[in-house]
Amino acid sequence: SVKTGGKSNYRFYDQKYYEKLRARHDKEDDLRRAIENDEFLMYYQPRVDISTGTTSSMEALVRWQHPSKGLLEPLDFIPLAEETGLIAGLGALAIEKVCAQLARWAKTGQELVPVSINVSPRQFDKTDVPKLLAESLAHHGVAARLVEIEVTESSMMSHGGEVSEVLAAIQGMGIKLLVDDFGTGYSSLSQLQSLDFDVLKVDRAFTAGLEKSEQGNVLFAAIITMAHALGMRVVAEGVENERQIRILKSLRCDEIQGFYISKPLPPSETQPILPKWFFPSTA
Ligand code: C2E
Ligand code: MG
Ligand code: MG
Ligand code: MG
Repeated sequence: SVKTGGKSNYRFYDQKYYEKLRARHDKEDDLRRAIENDEFLMYYQPRVDISTGTTSSMEALVRWQHPSKGLLEPLDFIPLAEETGLIAGLGALAIEKVCAQLARWAKTGQELVPVSINVSPRQFDKTDVPKLLAESLAHHGVAARLVEIEVTESSMMSHGGEVSEVLAAIQGMGIKLLVDDFGTGYSSLSQLQSLDFDVLKVDRAFTAGLEKSEQGNVLFAAIITMAHALGMRVVAEGVENERQIRILKSLRCDEIQGFYISKPLPPSETQPILPKWFFPSTA
């Protein structure tokens, strides 16, 4: 009958639901195990000064060397880590790895550029991130000015809590603060100014928009003008071709990052481009 059919349908959906739930639990267990075993490594992507072509910083981007699935990118595990709170442990690992890497690079006698670390406000709930940074820097004998912190605009706005207090404490240590993926959240530039950020990283959607229309250029120009008026340097994310560099130069953008300069690299391949990297247009 119709009634029985309905009932079995419900059972079907129930089963699907529980399968999904189970898969999620398995993935969560896998991630927890991976954090305990430390199956993570950092890749590094340079950020380049647009007028000199030299590397001003490197961004640390986490990768999961999964025992059976290979090298996984953040999209495969960061969202789950954030939902489950596992981001606290993962974030602590990232800070430790970056400081250890900076110490290793320092041993080679090269002049170092700062490394920026992506941080999620969810980490602030469970861990004292300023303390973690201070301990890791001290342990590896690394100067605070060699570390920068990136927080995405959207995560900052969606997270209540005491985000600004924690960020102010980090900045008080001499660590620069960067707004990441600007333009994808709902903040106003005045909100950002009250947090006193040093650098504004404009989301790659705006960089992609540069070639599309005159409007795209006007929008980017307005962001740069306002950011400069508020005392922030501006980074264009996702630069993929020379045309974008030319436009960004004319708009007085300060720094660029993207596959055209370099994709994120393992530390072994990053070393040769420290501390300087001249991008092709000025080489
Ligand atoms: P993000 O911080 O905005 O990092 C930039 C992302 O864009 C990176 O992806 C990078 O590989 C990619 N990208 C760089 N240049 C280009 C380009 O020219 N074109 C295109 N299409 N993409 C480009 P990735 O490494 O997959 O990281 C994704 C996101 O995961 C990061 O976005 C960041 O929000 C998050 N993430 C990475 N590492 C960490 C971490 O250690 N902790 C936390 N909380 N989040 C992290
Ligand atoms: Mg970032
Ligand atoms: Mg970004
Ligand atoms: Mg982005």
